[in-house]
Amino acid sequence: MKTLSMPPAWHGPLPGATPPPDMAIYQLPTGSYVTRANFAFKGGAFRDKRSFAATAILVTHPKRDFLIDAGFGADISAHVHAQPWYARSAYQATGTASEQLDSHGYDRGRLGGVLITHSHWDHVSGLDRLQVPIWTNAGELQYAAEARDGKVFRTVSQGHQIHQYEFASAPYLGFPSSYDVHGDGSVVVALAGGHTTGSVVVFVTLPAGKRYAFIGDVAWQLEGVRGPAERPLMMRKLADVDPGQVRQDLLRVASLAGLMQVVPAHDLTAYEGIPRLASRATSPVS
Ligand SMILES: [Zn+2]
Repeated sequence: MKTLSMPPAWHGPLPGATPPPDMAIYQLPTGSYVTRANFAFKGGAFRDKRSFAATAILVTHPKRDFLIDAGFGADISAHVHAQPWYARSAYQATGTASEQLDSHGYDRGRLGGVLITHSHWDHVSGLDRLQVPIWTNAGELQYAAEARDGKVFRTVSQGHQIHQYEFASAPYLGFPSSYDVHGDGSVVVALAGGHTTGSVVVFVTLPAGKRYAFIGDVAWQLEGVRGPAERPLMMRKLADVDPGQVRQDLLRVASLAGLMQVVPAHDLTAYEGIPRLASRATSPVS
């Protein structure tokens, strides 16, 4: 079995960022679904069952707040059943992002949109109860309009304003093009279009300098980043539009792992240290 070798750590400077002092992030876990590790990353054991996280991240910022992905929505049962066999599995829903925002008295007027890492069901289901603009790019919109696994997106995005951002040819940590959401380097989206055409990695830098890379499905579990290890061949063929591009992006992400918290969307342990909304008033991470 051909394995990837660990790339050298990123040796360039870290990109400048001037996040405002009251910027913060919170995790909103909305549920999980079961996958066997041998499907999740090359070398994973069949007996090792993994709970795949479906978690939204709230990024607060004085200009406007965003969610990165939407987690499970109220219609999750229908969304799971819209999947082909290999993506359908037992799931547990623990409360939508919308419910969690409301139950903590969050001012919905602050929410500028949901910035999606990509349009797959397990990242966008929660848009069914979040009537805010969807922030995405032309490549992903085209993918979602045509792909079989864009069905849930096509349903939940109805009635939403689409905010289509453009990538500048501004390299960011090894990725060739990026988009600076607030213009201060605090939230930067980099194109990593291999899983789907317009998949992105969202880089977040907090006021105290802590950095995160929300990598969507570049890897499904942290083992994929730490190996680095690609998805197994069958899953690459089924799940990725361009497995070679995913490999390249995985190596880019792996080179950053010592410099920031890398968060594969579906790894429950990758969210450790990010506070929940409940603790917002007392212990924001900054
Ligand atoms: Zn996913």
